[in-house]
Amino acid sequence: MSLHDHDSVSLDSRDIENSHVDVNDKAEIILPSSVIDDDDGKYGELILLGYNGSQDSKMSVPLKRHRTKMILIRRKQGNGIKKGSVSQVNVAAKDAPAVLDSSRHVVSYSYGKHQTVLVEYILDPNKDMFQELDEDDVPSLYVWREVSVDGDVYTLRETRSSNARGAMVPEETNMLQDGTLIDLCGATLLWRTADGLAKSPSANELEMALDRLNAGKPQCPVNLNTLIIPKKRSNNSTSSRQPYVYLNCGHVQGKHDWGFHSTLNGLPTFKCPICLAESERVIQLTMGMESSFHLDSGSLDYAFNPCGHVASFSTVRYWSRIPLPHGTNSFHPVCPFCTTLLATEKPFVRLIFQDHLFDN
Ligand SMILES: [Zn+2]
Ligand SMILES: [Zn+2]
Repeated sequence: MSLHDHDSVSLDSRDIENSHVDVNDKAEIILPSSVIDDDDGKYGELILLGYNGSQDSKMSVPLKRHRTKMILIRRKQGNGIKKGSVSQVNVAAKDAPAVLDSSRHVVSYSYGKHQTVLVEYILDPNKDMFQELDEDDVPSLYVWREVSVDGDVYTLRETRSSNARGAMVPEETNMLQDGTLIDLCGATLLWRTADGLAKSPSANELEMALDRLNAGKPQCPVNLNTLIIPKKRSNNSTSSRQPYVYLNCGHVQGKHDWGFHSTLNGLPTFKCPICLAESERVIQLTMGMESSFHLDSGSLDYAFNPCGHVASFSTVRYWSRIPLPHGTNSFHPVCPFCTTLLATEKPFVRLIFQDHLFDN
């Protein structure tokens, strides 16, 4: 299934670069309330990449203080805004009557000493608006395109810190689609529509898929014990039940020293006791628990390289093909569960379990 064949909703934002803005600017998402009509009023969800359903995270920010998911539901009364009148005055922005009137919302652009352009924003009851970040310095919002204050779509700037905007792309829409990724100053949000979420596995279905996998009692061929894929990454990886995958062959085993040696140039290498293939790494496995990042609840026999988050084939293939902004001017695919950069040569590995050995 594709993440892109569902409903779409409108996205808007304030681009405050290159202008003096006198309203208290925030990054905002605006949705036309006509998108949904009869159901529970849910537009969809925005999910922050890098938090595995709050199960684990490499980020140092305490999770309790930050929401990692935001559910957007239609407001009883629309609180959207739309562009109203544009006027030009010959006074400084701070002295313009429209700006001084606290009941009006005006964006001003100043040039020269006393030349000011005023753009008034008026209420639009047919749209709902959701504040997305409350940091003071959100410069702009990208959907791998840049979306301006009026919803126009531009190609990305040459570098993300550049003052020069990209070219306008009039043929593209600013409508959010299921699977749209939004980059807010380095934090990436995934937009899932209510419709799209209904076709993806629920958290329950995902837990059941993991239970089925663990119920197969995958064995470690060296330690001869049962392995269990955990929901949470453990830093104390000494547990004999913690599974690891050999990067090259995909055989899943516990932690042991069999076959571990150094190559002639001093690099560590791991010889697989099952197939004798050499791997330069073994990877600790953890379940990818955030269900919104999964495309299906197909069998969980793939893991991202190098972080070891487990998901289905269609899920790992999907994310390994999406380059996300990295640094100021490069793009690279990441694991959605922890935002680790994926290996270029081998972004994911197929897992081969020694399981269901006792079924007959
Ligand atoms: Zn092997
Ligand atoms: Zn990961």
